[in-house]
Amino acid sequence: MTSSAPLLVDSHCHLDRLDLTSHGGSLDAALAAARERGVGHFLCIGVSADNARTVRELADRYPDVDCSVGIHPLDVAPEGAPTLEWLLSELNHPRVVAIGETGLDYHYEPETAEIQKASFALHLEAATITGKPVIVHTRAAQADTLALLREAALPQGGVLHCFTEDWPMAKAALDLGFYISLSGIVTFRNAEALREVARQVPADRLLVETDSPYLAPIPYRGKPNLPQYVYEVAAFLADLRGEAFEAFATQTTANFRRLFPLARA
Ligand SMILES: [Zn+2]
Repeated sequence: MTSSAPLLVDSHCHLDRLDLTSHGGSLDAALAAARERGVGHFLCIGVSADNARTVRELADRYPDVDCSVGIHPLDVAPEGAPTLEWLLSELNHPRVVAIGETGLDYHYEPETAEIQKASFALHLEAATITGKPVIVHTRAAQADTLALLREAALPQGGVLHCFTEDWPMAKAALDLGFYISLSGIVTFRNAEALREVARQVPADRLLVETDSPYLAPIPYRGKPNLPQYVYEVAAFLADLRGEAFEAFATQTTANFRRLFPLARA
C-alpha cells in the first residue's frame, strides 16, 4: 500500500472473537493483512462485562485499534445487568472512545425486552454523562429503539451498526443525528431492500464495518469474517452508489473521525 492510498476504517469488529485459522492463529497477521488492503483503523467492540478488559488491552497494544465498552442486548441477563457506576468507570479509560454495543433485539429475544430496555437506557445515560457516542444494535425493535434515542437526545449522536432495517428507520435515525453503518449483509443476494437504503443514506452519514467474525461479505459468505474484508464491503457500496472507490473511502473515514473524535484514526 502506498502512503497516498485512501484509508478505510473497520468501524465495528470483534477482534477478540476472530477465527484466525487463515492467519496461522495470529491476530498480528490478520491486522497486517487488513492494513495491506488499506484498512488504517479498527474499532473493536465490547459486548459484555467479561470482554471489556480484553478489548481495552487490544486498544492498548495496537496504535490503530480503539475500543468501545458495553453490554450487547443479547448478553444482558437480569443478574448481569450493568450498573451506571461500572459503565462510567470503564468509559474513563482513554482508549474507550464509544459506548456499546447496546440496543434492542426483539428478533432473537423478545422475551427479554424489558431488561434490554433498562440496559439500553443505562447506556444512554452514560452517553449523556460522558459525551461519548453510542453504538446501537437494533433488530425488530424500531419503535422502542427510536423512542429511547429521542428521549436521550444525545448531541453527539452515535451509529446504528450493521444496519438491516428499512428506510423509514434509517431516516428517523438520521434525523436524530445518527450515522448508518453497513456491513457485508448489503452484498447478500437477498438484500435488495437494504441496498435501496444504502443508495439513499447521505454520503456524510455512512460508515462501513465488517462486524467480523460474523457475516462475511460475498465472495466470502459462510466463511469466517475478517477485518480485511471491509475492503469488499466498501468497494461494493461505492459501486452501488456510483461513487469512485477513493472518494468513498475518504468520505467514510472522515465520517468515522467526525463521529468518534477520540479515536486515533
Ligand atoms: Zn457487533
